[in-house]
Amino acid sequence: MSYVDDVLAKVIAKNPSEPEFHQAVTEVFETIRPVIEANEEMYKREAILERLTEPERMIKFRVPWIDDEGNVQVNMGIRVQFNNAIGPYKGGLRFHPSVNQGIIKFLGFEQIFKNSLTGLPIGGGKGGSDFDPKGKSDREIMKFCQSFMTELCKYIGADTDVPAGDIGVGGREIGFLYGQYKRIRGLYEGVLTGKGLTYGGSLARTEATGYGAMYMAQEVLKAHGDSMEGKTVVISGAGNVAIYAVEKAYQLGAKPVTCSDSTGWVYDPEGIDLEALKEIKEVNRARLTEYKKYRPNSEYHEGRGVWAIKCDVAAPCATQNELLIDDAKQLVANGCKAVVEGANMPTTLDATKYLQENGVWFVPGKAANAGGVAVSALEMSQNSERLSWTFEEVDGRLQGIMANIFRNISDAAARYDLDENYVAGANIAGFEKVVNAMLAQGVC
Ligand code: NDP
Repeated sequence: MSYVDDVLAKVIAKNPSEPEFHQAVTEVFETIRPVIEANEEMYKREAILERLTEPERMIKFRVPWIDDEGNVQVNMGIRVQFNNAIGPYKGGLRFHPSVNQGIIKFLGFEQIFKNSLTGLPIGGGKGGSDFDPKGKSDREIMKFCQSFMTELCKYIGADTDVPAGDIGVGGREIGFLYGQYKRIRGLYEGVLTGKGLTYGGSLARTEATGYGAMYMAQEVLKAHGDSMEGKTVVISGAGNVAIYAVEKAYQLGAKPVTCSDSTGWVYDPEGIDLEALKEIKEVNRARLTEYKKYRPNSEYHEGRGVWAIKCDVAAPCATQNELLIDDAKQLVANGCKAVVEGANMPTTLDATKYLQENGVWFVPGKAANAGGVAVSALEMSQNSERLSWTFEEVDGRLQGIMANIFRNISDAAARYDLDENYVAGANIAGFEKVVNAMLAQGVC
């Protein structure tokens, strides 16, 4: 059995009931196979794959809090500090009832390579809770965040581990988390990113992931002599990533026609009304059923279905495993040219393979959604120098970073005769930098 297959089998056996983690490791291992096989003895001797798949540290804790009726509620909190070979652990916090150890491990594992691809000095981590923010009052959200941070603050810091937002964690939650950190640790430092602009946040951080995904779509089309101008874009999700993907798609001259949430989806053939979407989701925190009130000619459907709409570019921006094999077949049949993953691992392995085999340019999340963590790293830089950069400066750097990532993943794929396999390119380029740093630092 080859070294890759041997470690993959061990990872699966050692981590039962963590299918998302198996999926993420399988995708990375399958694509870095040529790199490992070129120097198998050395990687095996150094146990590189075993070290890469075993988190450096995992902290799991109880989060008790009191709801508005005076009842004690208890949730699970977790932080996975996966790999700090190239910088402090960095990765978001997810608050969603589906959160469990396997999901946080898959996200933390992906984050190692994504952060490496940004070219910035940040390691990989991820965390969260099975707490469901939906339907909770602001007071309840605050009490939960304070209890969560009371425990988490022992393990994080501006130079050790810097969490940020993810599903269910936006500006409001980061504010409450930061307030509690400051209160307990007595430190005014850049320990979280995604902060409000009045207390150390960076301009363009809110927009960064969605903007970055559309910059990536622009890069991949440009490499094939085309552009976003006049393209129809199908987007899933209606959260932070999706909203700003819609905004940037318009700025690049394209027309985004769909969005979705966990109950249904909207098709607006004239183009999504961005202001309506922001009001529904960012201000009123309501469901997409409201959208029709703003745009009577749009369609609202229960369930899932955005991938059935004809498009040039598809951007899954909601959650993991939301683009399945039948969706991939529909996209191909409808002539879709490119898929850029705004979310983390939204496309299943078989759907990815089908898209690639049928000539769709497929850019995986660890490259296409790296804009969010890249601007988080720029927020850390601004906090360290106690300065704030303008929106244009941050957005300009973001655009440069996305172009650079695309170049690096294309070059890495080409070096192994895997032209246009951006999944392999992203995994190889991300892997090489982290592993060089791990080898230089010895067995640790
Ligand atoms: P938000 O919580 O702001 O939005 C998530 C959106 O996806 C909502 O519309 C939500 O609908 C929908 N959604 C979530 N879970 C499900 C589900 N199980 N089924 C169907 N729809 C679902 O999160 P973000 O926009 O921040 O994150 C979206 C994705 O992007 C995630 O995969 C995240 O890891 C990834 N990402 C985010 C970054 C960031 O900077 N925010 C950075 C890099 C990646 P509803 O409100 O109904 O639940």
